[in-house]
Amino acid sequence: MEVVSAPLFDTSHNLTGLLFIARDISGRKALQDKLRDIALTLEDALDAIPEGFAIYDRDDRLVICNDNYREIYAPSAPAMVPGNSFEEILRFGLQGKQYDTGGLTDEEWLAERLERHQSADGTVIEQNLADGRWLRISETKMRSGGTAGIRADVTELKAARARAESAYRNLSLIADNVSANITEVAPDGTCLFINKTGCEWFNGTSEDLIGTNLRDRLPWKEREAVQSIFLDALEGEKVSVEISLNFPDGVLRECHLDCTPRLNDQGGVDGLVVLITDVTDRKKTERTLAEFYAITSTRELSHEGKIGNILRLGCEHFDLPFGIISHVVNNHYTIIHAHSPNGELLPGTTCPLGDTHRVSKLEAGKPPATEDSTQSESAGHRCREVLSLKSYIGAPLLVDGIPHGTINFSAPEIRKRPFTADDLQIVRRFADWIGHEIARQRDHQALMDAKVSLERVASIDDLTQLLNRRAFLEKANIEVQRFRRSRQPLTAVMMDIDHFKLINDRCGHAVGDDVLRRFADAVSEELRTVDVFGRVGGEEFCLILSDTGLDEALRVCERLRKKIFSECRPGHMEQPITCSMGLAAASREDIEFSTLMRKADTALYEAKDAGRNRCVIHKPENKPANYF
Ligand code: GH3
Ligand code: MG
Ligand code: MG
Repeated sequence: MEVVSAPLFDTSHNLTGLLFIARDISGRKALQDKLRDIALTLEDALDAIPEGFAIYDRDDRLVICNDNYREIYAPSAPAMVPGNSFEEILRFGLQGKQYDTGGLTDEEWLAERLERHQSADGTVIEQNLADGRWLRISETKMRSGGTAGIRADVTELKAARARAESAYRNLSLIADNVSANITEVAPDGTCLFINKTGCEWFNGTSEDLIGTNLRDRLPWKEREAVQSIFLDALEGEKVSVEISLNFPDGVLRECHLDCTPRLNDQGGVDGLVVLITDVTDRKKTERTLAEFYAITSTRELSHEGKIGNILRLGCEHFDLPFGIISHVVNNHYTIIHAHSPNGELLPGTTCPLGDTHRVSKLEAGKPPATEDSTQSESAGHRCREVLSLKSYIGAPLLVDGIPHGTINFSAPEIRKRPFTADDLQIVRRFADWIGHEIARQRDHQALMDAKVSLERVASIDDLTQLLNRRAFLEKANIEVQRFRRSRQPLTAVMMDIDHFKLINDRCGHAVGDDVLRRFADAVSEELRTVDVFGRVGGEEFCLILSDTGLDEALRVCERLRKKIFSECRPGHMEQPITCSMGLAAASREDIEFSTLMRKADTALYEAKDAGRNRCVIHKPENKPANYF
């Protein structure tokens, strides 16, 4: 009950009685208790919220806030008294240096914050506190006109998100700098992630490609192959295959494809991570090296054949039309071997070294390569105008360690694919082998030259430069064999200088030598290249006249005899030089030259006996010899 009492007074102000009014207020009490319970429950409920929570009335005065709200803004907590305005509480916090105003003055910061607070449209804003914490604030207008606001401490969340973002950026950076194609696809084939290389191969940006089915961008035939790989991987096992794929950028690549299923906690497949590595260059390098070894090790190709094949192989490997091996001498560049589509490059072509592509690199001893000389440091080089080359790869040829020339491959067009480290190795390997081969050829040539000069020493008579006895007899036998095959007449002539001993005795050995030389020259001058003439003894010579019968041979010998008489006498000698000759025609029984030589010798002796300075033809045994 609620009892109201009042004293009653008369007009003289004397207490006359008491008035009691009793009212049953059990209903109102119950309501008040209920309201208090509700308020307590609300407070408890607010305190149970992990976020900071506050309600301001339509005049922006604090109605209620929970403990978390006070904890979050600890420096402002003393001001958080119901009835204080939002602005008063903010100012209190500003004095306590609670907020990171981000470079704004307190008034600027306050104006901005109040404006946001007044709009209270539910958008989430982030607030940075001076101690480094981050709050996420969401304020909403209530039907009463007041504002309800929630503050959540998202410092850790933000840090974790920053870490995750940084990790993602790092991963993306790594993925984008990998030359392989990396994609992640959902089980239905939708692209979830694609790296930079993938974008290039699929000819689009990540925005274009993510969310679409990449498989649909492949040509029909490829789709089937890729589909079956995906289906296998969706079973939960990693699949690795080597496969040739045509990509939307128009390039056919030989690929190594790894398809790894991404499993969820239940072991189900959430997606597939697909890593495609372009192994075209590696495969091509392997094939080229195998062919290179085949070319260099075969016995079926000549030196020239091998070099021609290496140039062709290089042109195919580098996909460049021109292949050249040059020799550089005295600042001149000469094409020694060339491979060109229509034979437009001719061996023997020479140009000043300065007009060729990369003389500087040749000197530096490095293999140069450029896919686009307009973009390289040689852009201003004269070679671009002279040879109009744009792509080039080459290496210097060293022969026994000394620069000899270059091997190079080039094209007048820009090369689409960049040269690889393997390409440089290949051109270097070509250069090494060719350098060795040139050195080997050189050594071989030197050996051949030495052999020729040794053979010459062994077969030429030093004094007269005629064939010596051994070499002469060798050739003479060959002539006899030829005679036996052809049956063309052949005459052998033995010659002996008359009284040579007297010349030596009277004029000295040196004069004798001089006479021998004059004799050899005088006779040689008269002979045909097919005739074989040699010194077979001290002052004895032998001559073979092939395709020549006795009559003709006698005419030749007579001419020689007269020439010797008139030309072989040294100036200070009184006596002329004469010589005797014995002629013999080859016949069927002369199987070897020795029998024919003996016959000519017999005739020679007869010439001596008959008084010297004459020619005598050998006659068979029973017939007397002919004298001239
Ligand atoms: P005949 O008319 O009978 O042929 O008399 P000959 O003096 O020419 O003959 P012989 O065989 O008696 O003498 C040959 C001489 O040739 C003897 C040798 O000393 C000399 N002789 C051999 N080889 C050389 C040489 O290389 N130089 C010189 N100067 N003399 C040589
Ligand atoms: Mg003699
Ligand atoms: Mg003599």
